[in-house]
Amino acid sequence: MNEKAKLAWTNVLFLTLSPLVAVVGVSIYLFYHGLQAGDLWLFFVMLTLSGFAITAGYHRYFSHRTYECHPILQFLYLIFGAAALQNSVLHWASDHRCHHLYTDQERDPYNIKKGFFWAHMGWIFYQYKPDRNFETIPDLKINKLVLWQHRYYMPIGIGIGFVLPTLIGFAYGSPWGGFLVGGLLRAVVLHHTTFLINSAAHWFGRQTYTNKNSARDNGVMAFFTFGEGYHNFHHAFPNDYRNGILFHHWDPAKWWIRLMSWVGMTWRLNRVSEWAIAEAQLRMNLLEVRPLLEKQPAERRQSLQERLDNVARQFETAMARMIQVRQEYRKCLAAKQVATGEEYRRLKSEWRLKKIQCGKALAEARSEYVQFLRELQLRPVLVSS
Ligand SMILES: [Zn+2]
Ligand SMILES: [Zn+2]
Repeated sequence: MNEKAKLAWTNVLFLTLSPLVAVVGVSIYLFYHGLQAGDLWLFFVMLTLSGFAITAGYHRYFSHRTYECHPILQFLYLIFGAAALQNSVLHWASDHRCHHLYTDQERDPYNIKKGFFWAHMGWIFYQYKPDRNFETIPDLKINKLVLWQHRYYMPIGIGIGFVLPTLIGFAYGSPWGGFLVGGLLRAVVLHHTTFLINSAAHWFGRQTYTNKNSARDNGVMAFFTFGEGYHNFHHAFPNDYRNGILFHHWDPAKWWIRLMSWVGMTWRLNRVSEWAIAEAQLRMNLLEVRPLLEKQPAERRQSLQERLDNVARQFETAMARMIQVRQEYRKCLAAKQVATGEEYRRLKSEWRLKKIQCGKALAEARSEYVQFLRELQLRPVLVSS
């Protein structure tokens, strides 16, 4: 997308007029009819279904394949994802994989370096290039369900997004309430909360795990986006099915995916190793510590510096050992093919012992480091196991 790209007038008109029509229309409706309990229910149910379809479906399943999922659930994601009116999953996932591949660069469709408004919705005002070939989504290009949704995106989106809530509204005596509150207002709210991930979650918040890109962790944003606000974690570990990793992190999409695994609708939920996460956050904390040390009185600075170097060394050694142990584990698995049962069991128990020792060394390094950060009044982020 560049300056020469043509405006997509349908998108421009829909994105600018839909919030206006929703606010004015809902206000007039409320003035004459008042708010029905059915409208409120319909709003939240439709928002939740289409919200999960975007976060757990379009994003964490189709774009990142962070878990496996039953075709029935894929189908539900596709029809309620269409109802969110954020384009077909073929376009959405293609844009999103480019966003991760080229974050903050020219080829990032919602590049935050082009400004807050561009990343939020300005990029949608322009047509796709005619030579768009979906090269980042070879797996989706051959998925029959995905192609079906791409072909019938508009009728599905209008049918599930507007006709369905209108009919439900008709059933409880308020078709206009169903259309305006469960259809239009719900779509507008979901549009802008999703858009905030591309804009605000690359603008406000903490770089907890990586500073290689502009993504930020933001708990407030997570509350309004079904858990997508822990965006720095997501950019550091896009293959993890979670975005909020601590038990108190608000991440309904993560809870949904896990809940679905209990009934066999999802499986192979991918989680990044706790050590990889700990390593990333400790490295980021290290960057925060260095400037703070400079501000310490000279007589204290020397001893703090030595302590920090010592802890960092301890951590590096433990991490290097952990990598070595992992390689040994792979060898151990390969040995399963050739060695006798007894040899294999011996190899495996040796590896388990090393893994435990390594885990202890890492935990010790980490707790010393956390203690050190606390003394400097820095906020460490602890990973739950
Ligand atoms: Zn992002
Ligand atoms: Zn993503």
